[in-house]
Amino acid sequence: MEIALEAQGLGKRYGKTWALRDCSLHLPAGRIAALVGPNGAGKSTLLHLAVGLLRPDAGAVRIFGESPYDNPELLPEIGFVAQDTPLYRDFTAAELVALGGRLNRRWDGALARNRLAQLGIPPNLRVGKLSGGQRAQVALALALAKRPLLLLLDEPVASLDPLARREFLQSLMGSVAESETTVLLSSHLLADLERVCDYLVVLNAARVQLVGPVDELVEGHRRLVGPRHDGAPIPGVTAVVRASHTARQSTLLVRADGPVHDPDWTEQDVTLEDLILAYLADGETPASHTAWEVPA
Ligand code: ADP
Repeated sequence: MEIALEAQGLGKRYGKTWALRDCSLHLPAGRIAALVGPNGAGKSTLLHLAVGLLRPDAGAVRIFGESPYDNPELLPEIGFVAQDTPLYRDFTAAELVALGGRLNRRWDGALARNRLAQLGIPPNLRVGKLSGGQRAQVALALALAKRPLLLLLDEPVASLDPLARREFLQSLMGSVAESETTVLLSSHLLADLERVCDYLVVLNAARVQLVGPVDELVEGHRRLVGPRHDGAPIPGVTAVVRASHTARQSTLLVRADGPVHDPDWTEQDVTLEDLILAYLADGETPASHTAWEVPA
């Protein structure tokens, strides 16, 4: 299995505050991964480290086995769209596509022009006059024209309305399905991610909380409803991630190796959104206080 992005004990500090700490994760090539967490969790910091814009203060990040900070020759392989799609607003989309051709050795200008034409984005209007959704599409088209092996998108849909978000994510999926591109996409719009992503990284308070393929993470967790739980071990349950109680009843979100065959408990499947919210409920991974990564 080829690894597109690997972090080992990765950390970045501003003064005494760690923006990202002890971050260890693998992102296999070919995945569309969601990077999820509240504001200030460290998502942008991780993406900036991955593209080589920041130097780690601890540990290492590797893109296809190389450190992006020390190997600028990796840059052509990485597409990056920063938050708020910063484009030269006085340029037209057509001019930006032409400019990209001059700045990049490998450049598929036809791909960008075709995408923009399909989306009905006027090529000769200054980008500053386009809508937020159209600007996001221009930024994505430019990033895809590099034909990157890894595409990093920092909250690409945050400023878009629901329809524009859906169109953007659908067109993203369509274009990466045709290529070999691995995508890491930060967002806190959970419902959108469920449709698009097959891999998940949850960050909270500078630390990784949960990493793995979405299907395995969802299968590996259950919601149990039963009599008020006193903390006694439940057969088949490896950890209680989150518990809520009424006087007589407990609802537990648990990690489990398989079905929990205990007549006291009613078992329910969890959604990706349930999982993310359970792991984000506070700044620490409950039960073990270490991140949980699905074994590679
Ligand atoms: P997110 O993208 O998840 O919102 P960030 O990676 O932007 O989070 O920020 C993580 C933490 O690092 C926050 O507490 C933020 O205030 C801090 N931080 C980010 N960039 C800087 C900076 N240039 N100087 C000081 N602190 C920063």
